Amino acid sequence: MDTSHLFTAALRLQSPWKVGSVDFRDADGGRQELRIMIVFEPGARFPCPETGCREDACPVHDRRARVWRHLDFFRYKAFIHAAMPRVTCPEHGVRTVPAPWAGPGGGFTLLFEAWAVET
Ligand SMILES: [Zn+2]
Repeated sequence: MDTSHLFTAALRLQSPWKVGSVDFRDADGGRQELRIMIVFEPGARFPCPETGCREDACPVHDRRARVWRHLDFFRYKAFIHAAMPRVTCPEHGVRTVPAPWAGPGGGFTLLFEAWAVET
């Protein structure tokens, strides 16, 4: 099992989402960072995010790069990167697909939020 598969499983990503690459790096100031790049399968279609909409295979319109802070991974500050797709729904137009690993609009992942509440 390579690292990308391991992190795909750890983050409970489901198709078409998967971890494309994982990068451990020394950042400025001697800090160590873990950068997890999440991608989706080329050609993937997504359900319209509008509540009650039955379009479940909208084509991707474009993508927007986003970054989320994730739980520290041992001594590494962890971040998730993804180019989030916007899809075109025939009824609702262009809509942003929500990240399955993050709450709406939040910069932190769900796991990180749960941890922050407990601490
Ligand atoms: Zn729709």
